[in-house]
Amino acid sequence: MELRYLFKKTQTAEDNKPSEQQEGPAAPQGLFHKCTKCQETIFSEELRKNSFVCPTCGNYFRMYASTRIEETLDEGSFEEWDADLLETNPLGTPGYEDKLRKLNDKTGLNEAIITGKGRIGGHETVIGIMDCRFMMASMGSVVGEKITRAVERATEQRLPVILFTASGGARMQEGIVSLMQMAKTSAALKRHSDAGLLYITVLTDPTTGGVTASFAMLGDIILAEPGALIGFAGPRVIEQTIGQKLPEGFQRSEFLLEHGFVDKIVERRDIRDTLESILKLHEDKGQFAPEDMPEIKISKKNTKLTPWDKVMISRGKDRPVAEDYIKELFPDFIEFHGDRFVRDDRAIMGGIATFAGRSVTVIAESKGHDTTENIARGFGMPSPDGYRKALRLMKQAEKFGRPVICLVDTPGAYCGLEAEERGQGEAIARNLYEMSALKTPILSIIISEAGSGGALALAVSDEIWMLENAIYAILSPEGYASILWKDSKRASEAAAEMKLTAEDMLRLGIVEKVIEEPTDLSMDNINAVISSIGSGLNEFISANLDFDADKLVRGRYDRFRRF
Ligand SMILES: [Zn+2]
Repeated sequence: MELRYLFKKTQTAEDNKPSEQQEGPAAPQGLFHKCTKCQETIFSEELRKNSFVCPTCGNYFRMYASTRIEETLDEGSFEEWDADLLETNPLGTPGYEDKLRKLNDKTGLNEAIITGKGRIGGHETVIGIMDCRFMMASMGSVVGEKITRAVERATEQRLPVILFTASGGARMQEGIVSLMQMAKTSAALKRHSDAGLLYITVLTDPTTGGVTASFAMLGDIILAEPGALIGFAGPRVIEQTIGQKLPEGFQRSEFLLEHGFVDKIVERRDIRDTLESILKLHEDKGQFAPEDMPEIKISKKNTKLTPWDKVMISRGKDRPVAEDYIKELFPDFIEFHGDRFVRDDRAIMGGIATFAGRSVTVIAESKGHDTTENIARGFGMPSPDGYRKALRLMKQAEKFGRPVICLVDTPGAYCGLEAEERGQGEAIARNLYEMSALKTPILSIIISEAGSGGALALAVSDEIWMLENAIYAILSPEGYASILWKDSKRASEAAAEMKLTAEDMLRLGIVEKVIEEPTDLSMDNINAVISSIGSGLNEFISANLDFDADKLVRGRYDRFRRF
């Protein structure tokens, strides 16, 4: 089918004068705005300076695409693409052309999206920004075509793509042709991804319907503005269908984060910097420059610890947890959330960072420090959702050729009703299966407790290191004693019999390296351990600068084949 192009009006600077900024449904034009949430009257100038966030209540006003470009891209770096793509009326819908013409006159926009190329902090990127003023940024054939062309050019030029989404969904006046835009844009993005290129979406209010069910949800990294409405079916439609009122916060960014569909919620004022950091971490592999790791003397008491002593030490209340290691070793760590299925399991933390100038993916089992954090992080016992988040981030590391560093610290996988319903066994199995052939280096470091399959699901690696007083076992000594001897009180005896210390692991060939630690390892003396891990990481990264993926995978196969 050939599209019939109709007309075009070129957008001028006049069309987007800041004083004409009209944001949100009830905002009057002119010098003042009335906040739709707190009803406060705000000077237009003040609102603009605050990136269209209400200074009184923090309410987010919708932004013009042109303003977004000004706020996001380096000054003068934007080159617009396909601005002259003309309107179509593929189904010959009566009155549609008039409607488009009127909107064109009113807003100065040719369509609901502006696309092009620009730079953020010097990093070149393709960018597309939707604008709700134009038919609620519904996805007609021109919107789909502009996105597809932008993505195709990004693939040719090997550039990342960033799309700011906002849309009411499909465009009714273009019917089935609008639906096809979902397939067309998704297909272009698949090619872009298969070429190993980065795609980021920034979901803004509202992102709904066909846009959610296509390019909005396909980002390698999905960011969202706070409080944005994001969903497939609109809340009104759902309420009418089920005959119930929806709960507060339903389909908002925070809800999506909790349910595993958003990597990170970013305040508007931080979006540019966040995008810049992410682009930087993906731009190239970076220059390798070993981290300076001073040698620190490790102080130890002169007592021989029994295996049971080590069990107790590994569970110690003051012992540093994964977050502490991440903070010390990867200060530029950006955390990403969610499994893209049901939930964000906080027992697993994952994200990207640099070490020695190279980008790495960091995935950790995380217990938290105090009771509140312990509960929020499920005491470091991951659910299937946690393992699926870990796998998602590992696959992303593979796509971008980043080494994966896992920090292992769990008493075991979470045991419970929901975990079984969602397939705890399947999730762990899937990780073992996929990790065995992941085409990027994997290093796992057991920092405290490594229990059962719950630990192994982050440790099918090229190398495994272990802190001196950490333990690694098929189950807890209490569990072992209770199964074998029907007496969990004999746990200390079991600990000795089970061979679970770092020394045992080295002898059995389960780990490559034992990291010496002070007798009472805590935040006060963590430096010595950080220093040894850091030196080890320098070596590991340096040895894998130009890794041969097939050789790596063969080596990993052989490593586990011998047991
Ligand atoms: Zn307000």
